[in-house]
Amino acid sequence: MNFRFPVIVIDEDFRSENISGSGIRDLAEAISSHGFEVVGYTSYVDLSAFAQQASRASCFILSIDDEEFGTGTPEEVEKALMELRTFVKEVRKRNADIPIFLYGETRTTRHVPNDVLRELHGFIHMFEDTPEFVAKHIIREAKKYLDALAPPFFNALMDYASDGSYSWHCPGHSGGVAFLKSPVGQMFHQFFGENMLRADVCNAVDELGQLLDHTGPVAQSEQNAARIFSCDHLFFVTNGTSTSNKMVWHSVVAPGDIVVVDRNCHKSILHSIIMTGAVPVFLMPTRNHYGIIGPIPKSEFSPEAIAKKIAANPFARNAKNKKPRILTITQSTYDGILYNVEEIKQELGSTIDTLHFDEAWLPHASFHDFYKNMHAIGKDRPRSEETVVFATQSTHKLLAGLSQASQILVQNAEKRSLDTHRFNESYLMHSSTSPQYAIIASCDVAAAMMEPPGGTALVEESLLEAIEFRRAMRKVDAEYGDDDWWFKVWGPDELPEEGLGTRDNWTLHATDSWHGFGAIESGFNILDPIKATIITPGLNLHGQFDEHGMPAAIVSKYLAEHGIIIEKTGLYSFFIMFTIGITKGRWNSMVTELQQFKDDYDQNQPIWRVMPEFAAKHPRYEKVGLRDLCQQIHNIYRKYDVAKVTTEMYLSTIETAMTPADAWAKMAHREIERVSIDDIEGRVTAMLVTPYPPGIPLMVPGERFNKTIINYLQFTRAFNSAFPGFETDVHGLVRELVDGEVKYFIDVVKE
Ligand SMILES: *Cc1c(COP(=O)(O)O)cnc(C)c1O
Repeated sequence: MNFRFPVIVIDEDFRSENISGSGIRDLAEAISSHGFEVVGYTSYVDLSAFAQQASRASCFILSIDDEEFGTGTPEEVEKALMELRTFVKEVRKRNADIPIFLYGETRTTRHVPNDVLRELHGFIHMFEDTPEFVAKHIIREAKKYLDALAPPFFNALMDYASDGSYSWHCPGHSGGVAFLKSPVGQMFHQFFGENMLRADVCNAVDELGQLLDHTGPVAQSEQNAARIFSCDHLFFVTNGTSTSNKMVWHSVVAPGDIVVVDRNCHKSILHSIIMTGAVPVFLMPTRNHYGIIGPIPKSEFSPEAIAKKIAANPFARNAKNKKPRILTITQSTYDGILYNVEEIKQELGSTIDTLHFDEAWLPHASFHDFYKNMHAIGKDRPRSEETVVFATQSTHKLLAGLSQASQILVQNAEKRSLDTHRFNESYLMHSSTSPQYAIIASCDVAAAMMEPPGGTALVEESLLEAIEFRRAMRKVDAEYGDDDWWFKVWGPDELPEEGLGTRDNWTLHATDSWHGFGAIESGFNILDPIKATIITPGLNLHGQFDEHGMPAAIVSKYLAEHGIIIEKTGLYSFFIMFTIGITKGRWNSMVTELQQFKDDYDQNQPIWRVMPEFAAKHPRYEKVGLRDLCQQIHNIYRKYDVAKVTTEMYLSTIETAMTPADAWAKMAHREIERVSIDDIEGRVTAMLVTPYPPGIPLMVPGERFNKTIINYLQFTRAFNSAFPGFETDVHGLVRELVDGEVKYFIDVVKE
């Protein structure tokens, strides 16, 4: 493989016709003659931008000779040294290993202070050695650095793919060759490129090791990642955290076991409940009227509170073993609320067999002190006495993994360690026997990227950008003043003046009014600043509607048409995330697009003008003004009091008629019927019912429909028929055309 990692030279004289200029150019030429690219700059203009180049360079050569020192006054020397020091520090903040050389005259380099010297790979004394000799030395160091970059599996995969051996094993495209035999295949090949296809190999290739047995380079990479994430074991998973969750569950839960689960869990946890035949007992999170999910109050975690729930549950209270097998918490709720894990561990003691944190949205937390104790497993964290802790993380959601890249982290207990052989039986049950090697490589690389100091710098950067974004939004708000409107970003009232602030800035306190979760325990939770919920006008935190409003569904459709795709849209809020891929350009465009939206709204611009694609698809809105459309949707929300309805339905008391597995069995055996939503009160759902937004399951198979939930489903029907194009999608609901009319049904258990 030929990589492009140039040697970067920074020298004022790089292009000058003087001795020093010709010296450095001779050196550059000698380096180039060995096939290494050299890029020259004449100043450290933008220091931090330069330092970021550390990721694409193989080596830095920094010139420090008489010219850099100007005429040599103490101030000039001081200034030059300052620049040098800042630069070296910025580079080292992100990259501990890249070679940095100083290039200069002996009498100037002796001015360089120790803290800079310590970070260098050497001095090059101008004119003492031949350029050829110095070039060889530099290239050797640059090569050494590049050779050590790739973590074990990625390294082995690159070797294999570039080896050029013929293979007789699957996949059938034989390293991409099959594609070349057809025009559309050619197109595919050209699009994805040779390497992706050469690296798409099957598990018959011994030298790469086996994901399913955790051997060879794969195992080395998993161990490397375990070290980086500070856990006892780490397993890569190539089918997403949906699968990681099922692996963890199937390794410890059997039919009839009591399990304690966050009611706002991901559907893969509910699938796990169905598959294992477990008896779930739910912990109820708070919610505010924006529809934002808050924390489960700390009191819900006490063994007494859990025992009470078990006693109240007709299926759990008759279970032979009353000790819950597992507790699963969504660590980072969809809106960015985190729990103090050490407090949870202390509270529960050894009353639960296994603790599981679904950290699909939190793989970054290990790498910054800001998150200390607010994630499951990390450096120097105490072990539980008997409870093994699992964390499952979607590497692809916030780190640099390909889609479906996920990992399982394990922390052993003092008195109990994971038996990896037994655990692997469950791992195998949910793995494809043909894992995708590019995904494994991305798990490997995503972990290596996070190795401090680089990973810490990346997380810090996304934290800082996220907070800068909040400040920018407030500045716009302040400029519009009280008589005008602007969007708000949900979060603490006080922002730190600059930088990150302290943890307390982001902690939820009982006395805070901004969160709307009531008198929750102070200090038990924080808001992850990188998750930003943007609130659109129209609804306040008490669930009361304003006169005017702009439902988020419209804002988010508007943004989509202007090239900004929103992760999640609520009623009057939408959600964006500052992943490690964030750039200033990206969040600044968000601010400007929102400005654009405001202008178009204020001028009530017709939809055909501001959202032409949407208008083409739904001509009924063509001539409607943006403000009028907002108002129409706002009015129907207000009429149905939707904010209250959606909050209440998630908090309503739902009766359980049978275990989820039994309800599933009814479906498998076709002992179900499709009933209109008008006639389902008291009936038992066979389906998982999940409204989008927010995408959180509302009903679990085996539960009875109550009036509150039916009200919501009826609202959905009325709304969807009034506003095609803005439909609320409810998974589990069946829409059928009966006599020209759209009717809504649900599959319920036969009575
Ligand atoms: C996305 C998500 C998952 C599933 O992760 P995938 O990698 O998409 O399979 C699990 N849990 C939570 C909380 C999630 O948000």
